[in-house]
Amino acid sequence: MRVARTVAAAREALVGAAAPVGLVPTMGALHEGHMSLLRRAREECATVVMSLFVNPAQFGAGEDLAAYPRDGAGDERAAREAGVDLLFAPEAGEMYPPGFATTVSVAGLREPLEGAVRGAGHFDAVATVVAKLLNVVAPQVAYFGQKDAQQALVIERMAADLDFPARIEVCPTVREHDGLARSSRNAYLDAAERERAAAIPAALRAVAASIGGGERDPAAAAAAGLEELRRRGIEPEYLALADPRTLAPVERVSGPVLVAVAARVGRARLIDNLVAQPTTRRT
Ligand code: AMP
Repeated sequence: MRVARTVAAAREALVGAAAPVGLVPTMGALHEGHMSLLRRAREECATVVMSLFVNPAQFGAGEDLAAYPRDGAGDERAAREAGVDLLFAPEAGEMYPPGFATTVSVAGLREPLEGAVRGAGHFDAVATVVAKLLNVVAPQVAYFGQKDAQQALVIERMAADLDFPARIEVCPTVREHDGLARSSRNAYLDAAERERAAAIPAALRAVAASIGGGERDPAAAAAAGLEELRRRGIEPEYLALADPRTLAPVERVSGPVLVAVAARVGRARLIDNLVAQPTTRRT
């Protein structure tokens, strides 16, 4: 595995790389979720590139940029074991040199849900850094997790709108035995918080069961999830039912629905989602 710390070194390492090239962007602190993306890339691509960059621009003031778990050596080892060909791990100054002035902004998808809590600038920063990574690596395929459903939609829209040739693959959420989605931020949880956090996937399942059982009123379906959370003393930042493509709020359930949740448990701010399917009634 080669390691590149600069854009020039990454480009140089990729001259003549066998196609297809697959890119897996990460912020490191690798866990089974990242590994599933790397495995998929390794199966499908001749050359696998992983980027490791904790993008300061996508953290708001008062968010966990300084505390975000970092383990460069461990991540490098894990990437090597996963069969990564090139690790691109730049410093912030390499990605944002003096004079950097450009922003990519995906209107409509940047504002709701995570955008409403973290500020729409969060997804501008995500779209901008991913655009840069796609330009540096020029992959045929780039892999993202459904765990960050809104992020995946933003990137799909950006790639389509700006004619990036990369295919965007969205991979299923990897979960712990009790359903908690794998996340680098799970490291913030103590044992008691870790146990309570299982209420988050339980809440999503409760909403999905309600919809699957025929509930068409989004507020009533959401109430089933809120109940699960409150039983474990969790008040979510949002528990929302949205259109899985546009993220528009659902007025009445009539097709697949993105059920998305964000909640603080202890120091950790956790997000999760699933796509719920209504029962199809025969007439
Ligand atoms: P991050 O390092 O948190 O920015 O995540 C890097 C990529 O891994 C993103 O595309 C995430 O959506 C994806 N990812 C994170 N957690 C999971 C998970 N539990 N299952 C699947 N993909 C994940």
